[in-house]
Amino acid sequence: MDFFDKLSDTLVSATKEVGQKAKDVSGIAKLQYDIKCKEDDLEKLYADLGRKYYQIKKEEPAEDEAAAFDEIDELTAALADLKEQLMDLKGAKACPKCGAKVADNATFCSSCGAKLDDMFEEED
Ligand SMILES: [Zn+2]
Repeated sequence: MDFFDKLSDTLVSATKEVGQKAKDVSGIAKLQYDIKCKEDDLEKLYADLGRKYYQIKKEEPAEDEAAAFDEIDELTAALADLKEQLMDLKGAKACPKCGAKVADNATFCSSCGAKLDDMFEEED
C-alpha cells in the first residue's frame, strides 16, 4: 500500500467516523427529546392526580400530610393576593354586579359573567 492509498483509507474511515458521530448526536437529541416529553407527561399526570387527591382529602388530610395541605392552602391564598395586586396595578375595576376585580379592558366579569361595558357606561 503506497502513501496515497493509506491516506485515502484514513480519510474514508475518518469520514465514516464523523458520519457515525452525527448519527449518534441526532440519536441522542431525539432520545433526550423523547425522554423530556415522557417526563413532562408523567409530571402532568402526577400533578393532576395530586390535585384530585387534594380535593378529596382537603377536609380531613392524614396527619403526616397536613403540613403539605396547609402549604398548598397558603400558596393558593398568596397567589390570589398577588394576582389581585397585579390587577390593581393594571388598573382593574370592580364588577358592579358582584364586586370581583376585573381587568380594565374586560368585556365580561370573569367571576359572575356580567357584561361590563354597559354597566361601566351606566356609571358615568
Ligand atoms: Zn361580576
